[in-house]
Amino acid sequence: MIKNLFGLTLEQLQSEMQSIGQKKFRAGQIAAWIYQRGVHSFDGMNDLSKELRARLSEMYSIEPARLITQLNSPSTTKFLLELNGARVECVLMRHDYGNSVCISSQVGCAMGCAFCASTLNGCQRNLTAVEMLAQVVFINDRLRAESQKVDSIVVMGTGEPLQNFDNLIGFLKMIHEPYTLGMSYRRIVVSTCGIVPNIDRLAASDIPITLSISLHAPTDELRSQLMPINRTFDIKTVVEAGGRYADRTGRRVTYEYILIDGVNDSTEHARQLATLLKNQLANVNLIPINPVEGKSFRRPSKERIKDFVTVLESRGLGSTVRKEFGAEIDAACGQLRNRDLSAKVMK
Ligand code: SAH
Repeated sequence: MIKNLFGLTLEQLQSEMQSIGQKKFRAGQIAAWIYQRGVHSFDGMNDLSKELRARLSEMYSIEPARLITQLNSPSTTKFLLELNGARVECVLMRHDYGNSVCISSQVGCAMGCAFCASTLNGCQRNLTAVEMLAQVVFINDRLRAESQKVDSIVVMGTGEPLQNFDNLIGFLKMIHEPYTLGMSYRRIVVSTCGIVPNIDRLAASDIPITLSISLHAPTDELRSQLMPINRTFDIKTVVEAGGRYADRTGRRVTYEYILIDGVNDSTEHARQLATLLKNQLANVNLIPINPVEGKSFRRPSKERIKDFVTVLESRGLGSTVRKEFGAEIDAACGQLRNRDLSAKVMK
């Protein structure tokens, strides 16, 4: 049986090398080729002897993510990748402050948010830690060709990362390792719809990432309509958990708030939001909605967005309006994958 070495930890690679009578340090050389140099054939590993390369090729393979489709706009590239038979999306966003990658944590999503394309076909399965890693390594390999790299990661693609907690933690630890990308935890954002017990577990894990909570409405009535999870963990419970996270980690929590025309974007909603987050170590990321096919939600006008921001400002709540990224290439979560799914059904 040919064994895939992609995704093995350094320790696992070390015992693999020892099991075939090699020195432990070979593992470090191989890990560097796989994770830091994008070399996925043993032939290219020119600091290993020819004999060893031939032997490794017989016994092992290196199987990173496979590219299915890619969509480009000037600032954004969206990739549909295949990972062990599952198709997932990840996105490269080129900001003036660096390259950010948005990865998926599940194949589909079970959360049922009314405005989101990722959840339309439910959740097929969790992604493993290695499958999350593979998305980042894939994009980092692409960037290397331009002498660039991944500078930050947002776990904000398809799926609910806190419903896949152990794999998420495994991924965070692995991407932080010096033999992979050595990514600083402070350059990673994890976004959740508010799975409260796991927000507390994340705080207790002492992995200092930035937590982002998808709020999207300031009242339980409205939030329950938009996000079914609110019937399990209501707004007060979620914001309290955000407060505990900030207290424990000293890190400011971001609240994401999609702006949907005529639904949650009035100045009254802004006042309610400011009251809710008063005295919290928090800021708000306002996201004019990316319209999703088959849903009637629209983006508010610039004036309405400005009025919303003005109310938050006047109440001392910091906010940013997310720059539009990739709406023209279906960058709203899950849209590329859905298109791929429906194309398969039509075939
Ligand atoms: N399940 C996690 C992470 C994935 S969603 C969460 O809920 O946070 C990542 C972010 O994209 C969330 O804030 C989500 O609400 C938002 N999002 C989903 N659909 C969107 C759309 N059509 N337009 C803009 N943002 C959207």
